[in-house]
Amino acid sequence: MPRIGVFVCHCGENIARTVDVRKVAEDAGRIPGVVFSTDYTYMCSAPGQKLVMDAIRERGLTGVVVSACSPQLHEPTFRNAVQQAGLNPFLCEMANIREQCSWVHPNRAEGTAKASLIMASAVQKVARGRALSASEVPVTKRALVIGGGVAGIRTALDIANAGHEVVLVEKQPSIGGNMARLSETFPTLDCSQCILTPLMVEVSRHPRIELITCAEVEEVSGYVGNFRARIRRRPSFVRADLCTACGDCATACPASVPNEFDQGLAWRKAIHIPFPQAVPSTYTLDAASCLNTQLVSSKSGYRVLACERCADVCSRKAIDYDMRPEIIEREIGAIVAATGYRMMSGEGLADYGYGRYPDVVDSLEFERLLSASGPTGGEVLRPSDGKPARDVVFVQCVGSRDPVHGYPYCSRVCCMYTAKHALLFKHKVHDGRATVFYIDIRAAGKGYEEFVQRAMEEERVLYVRGRVARVTQVDGRLVVYGADTLSGQPLQVRADLVVLASAMVPAQTNVAARLRVPTDAFGFFQEAHPKLRPVETLTAGIFITGAAHGPKDIPDTVAQASAAASKALELLSKTRLQREPTIARVDEAVCMACFECVRICPYQAVEKHEVRARDGRLLRVVARVNPAMCEGCGACAGACRSSAMDIQGYTDTQIFAQLTALMTGAAS
Ligand code: FAD
Ligand code: SF4
Ligand code: SF4
Repeated sequence: MPRIGVFVCHCGENIARTVDVRKVAEDAGRIPGVVFSTDYTYMCSAPGQKLVMDAIRERGLTGVVVSACSPQLHEPTFRNAVQQAGLNPFLCEMANIREQCSWVHPNRAEGTAKASLIMASAVQKVARGRALSASEVPVTKRALVIGGGVAGIRTALDIANAGHEVVLVEKQPSIGGNMARLSETFPTLDCSQCILTPLMVEVSRHPRIELITCAEVEEVSGYVGNFRARIRRRPSFVRADLCTACGDCATACPASVPNEFDQGLAWRKAIHIPFPQAVPSTYTLDAASCLNTQLVSSKSGYRVLACERCADVCSRKAIDYDMRPEIIEREIGAIVAATGYRMMSGEGLADYGYGRYPDVVDSLEFERLLSASGPTGGEVLRPSDGKPARDVVFVQCVGSRDPVHGYPYCSRVCCMYTAKHALLFKHKVHDGRATVFYIDIRAAGKGYEEFVQRAMEEERVLYVRGRVARVTQVDGRLVVYGADTLSGQPLQVRADLVVLASAMVPAQTNVAARLRVPTDAFGFFQEAHPKLRPVETLTAGIFITGAAHGPKDIPDTVAQASAAASKALELLSKTRLQREPTIARVDEAVCMACFECVRICPYQAVEKHEVRARDGRLLRVVARVNPAMCEGCGACAGACRSSAMDIQGYTDTQIFAQLTALMTGAAS
């Protein structure tokens, strides 16, 4: 017969205001198996915990129910107290009578009845509980950071500076991400490259950072502390150890294609360096753009057939057409996803003439027009004819806050960078005219409101409150049709250039699927809890940071990058990890070998196991759970038709006993 103690908390007035806590304790005393019950003002306080510990020791309790707040808050507190008193911590159950009870039931009688039911159901669960013990696994002291924008760079440096190895994987030939494309940055207007380049160089020189560019993570297996990453590196056809970045190859190369770093506003050669400050500072041959390239079979696998002018002029003999894709495998303890964002494209931009009129550009393209290292050397010239733009119209919230044509969310940085764009334009073209169409201005960061005021007042940027309906071309000039919602007047503004602050959307990547972590409705990585666990995912050991998690500016990105690094470091600083024992377990005698569990497990934790006789004969095949990989999500237990699969600490017997208590009102 179990000997259970029930401890009902007042939580000051939080619970006691709408729940008669004394009555709940009295109801508990009448449940068979409950040998002690009491109430107390703050059960989580030191005297409250002592009450629990004394009762365990003095009354020989075999299980404890704390009727109080959410287990999210104080389950560790009480498990710890219970363990100190000599009872297995998994024989302590929290009955949450606060969040879903006292806080939502103003009627005291109803609240009390519900609290008693919740308490009774927890009593039934703990009465059928078993002592469980956490298992231990070793930790590989190396982090994998996916994405080398400012988020990935900051995370990698923080982890490496704390003494751990980092593998930084970047899809492009250089790290830097979108920040490398920016001209100057709000609100301080410091040059983006000037503040980013030292960090990029630090990454390349750091003895504990292995930088792998032109690469993507193809597969991740394993579990927290013990992941294995398979990384595929595309061939660059240029030997990094020999290339001095002299550029002779690019001069000789006859193949030109739009330069993606300049957002297609300029050209680059097939053999190229993405931008002058690129890290690593090595040329890359983009095989898809190279003239004449064919992948032909050869003894060594395949070979690129090219015009070979780059190889002819390269005095260092750095060009190697025989390079092949490489698979790199690394053991990893913690993973940080920092894959960033891209600008919205497609149909949502059609009304604004984007894609039809070359002088309608998006804001990242405008950054390149403003940049001294950009295609125009920093002069604001029209892409159509290279003539100076004097009238520029900026349109905010293109696709953002627009559930019909784009996305319902706010992209958070557009109000600020539009003010920056208008201000920088006015610095360059003093007598130019800058008009901004906006819905409202969101400038909540430090110094941000002052920055927008500066654009409005000092630089005389004209802010028009209203949406733009469409952009067309009349007599060779762009015309923006909108409405000034403050005056109620329709408006037409002629423009040399129209800049669209289009929505920030997640980078096109299948990293989330490969890491098996959820994304939100728009494809941004989903955090484990928006307030309490903002850089963690629901998969232990995998963290997120930067614009991959949602639109954000550089200060927020950098702060979040350091937060993700500190979470990864918390993990890497341990030699061994304790794994929660609340994981799946198969009763092999009952398993019917349908392997529904193998199919449904999102963590690939269930395997087919061959049971053999001593002489090696195969007797049967059953499901078996790898305890190190199981996250205890319960999907398999729900899917198992023969009830062979159970979650320890949440067995079918326990859950049915809880449900029976709730349905039959067993407390009263
Ligand atoms: P990104 O910069 O997008 O970097 C992500 C990196 O991950 C990239 O290098 C990408 O190639 C890589 N990657 C993607 N997928 C993979 C994959 N599968 N495998 C490996 N690597 C991958 N903020 C400010 O504070 N001040 C400003 O003035 C400012 N101006 C802006 C102007 C514009 C027009 C825009 C659009 C944004 C601006 N921002 C500004 C915001 C700023 O750009 C972001 O805060 C910042 O770039 C986010 O960094 P990130 O590293 O998270 O993402
Ligand atoms: Fe350019 Fe010819 Fe070299 Fe290809 S092989 S990158 S086309 S020079
Ligand atoms: Fe996989 Fe089952 Fe564990 Fe969930 S509970 S991770 S489905 S084995």
